[in-house]
Amino acid sequence: MRIDVLTLFPEMFEGVFGASIIGKAREKGIVELNVVNFRDYANNKHNTVDDYPYGGGSGMVLKPEPIFAAVEALLKPDEPRPRIILTCPQGETFTQRKAEELAKEPRLIFICGHYEGYDERIREHLATDELSIGDYVLTGGELPAMVVIDAVVRLLPGVLGNETSAITDSFQSGLLEYPQYTRPASFRGWDVPEVLLSGHHGKIAEWRRRQSLLRTLRRRPDLLEHADLTPEERRFIEEERRRMAAGSAKGGDPERDGASG
Ligand code: SAM
Repeated sequence: MRIDVLTLFPEMFEGVFGASIIGKAREKGIVELNVVNFRDYANNKHNTVDDYPYGGGSGMVLKPEPIFAAVEALLKPDEPRPRIILTCPQGETFTQRKAEELAKEPRLIFICGHYEGYDERIREHLATDELSIGDYVLTGGELPAMVVIDAVVRLLPGVLGNETSAITDSFQSGLLEYPQYTRPASFRGWDVPEVLLSGHHGKIAEWRRRQSLLRTLRRRPDLLEHADLTPEERRFIEEERRRMAAGSAKGGDPERDGASG
C-alpha cells in the first residue's frame, strides 16, 4: 500500500511513522508512506495557504488551490483515482470496519486540515471520504490521520508478527476482547483463572468467548446488536442481562458481581 499525507506540519509524522509496527511495516516494504507539505504548492509570493472566510467570521480557511495542486501532483494519469480522505470532525466516525475497508485499498491520500477548516470546494470536488475520529475538535488533522493510518497499516498482511492477534482484537470480531493474563500465575494473591492454566484448548476458547460476551454486554451493549452470535449465545446474553438488572436493583456492581463464565 502507498499512503500520501498532505499536511502543513510534516515534522509531526517523523516519530510515529518511524517507530513500532508502522516503522517495521515500512522497513519490510509493506507500506510506503510519503508526507507532503502542501505549502510547497501555494504558488503565491508569501506561500499563503489560508485566507479570510467570505461573509466574515473568525479564523482562517484553507484555500483550495494548494491542496488541489498537491493532490494532482501525486496522481498519475494512468492510475485509477485513489481514495482521498479529508480528516474532519464533521465526517463519518472512524471504526474498525472502516479500517478493514481501507486496508483493502492499494493507495490512500490523507488531507490534514488546520485553522477553521477547508474551503467547501475541497470537500465537494476533491475528497472521496470524510473521516472523523470522534465528537471533539482537535487543532489539526495530523493526529486523526495518524490514528487512521495506524489502524489500517496493522491490518495489512504480514505487518503483525502473529496474524491471529488482529483477529482477536476488540471490535474485529464485533465484540470486545476477553481479559488477558501473563506470568506470574499468582500476583499479590490475585490468581489467574484456573481454566487458562489447564492447557485444555477447547475450554479456554469457550471461557474466552463467554468473557468477550460478558465484557461487551457490560461495557458496550450497543455492539451486541450487530454481533454474529449463536442462538445459545443470545440466550446466555439475555440471562445475564436479567441477572444484571436484578443485581443493580439490589445495588450490586455489574462489573464485579456478574457471572465469571
Ligand atoms: N471549524 C471546523 C468545524 O467546526 O468542523 C473545525 C476545524 S479544526 C479546528 C481543524 C482541523 O482539524 C480540521 O479541518 C480537521 O482536519 C482536524 N480535526 C479536528 N477535529 C477532528 C476530528 N475529530 N476528526 C478528524 N479531524 C479533525
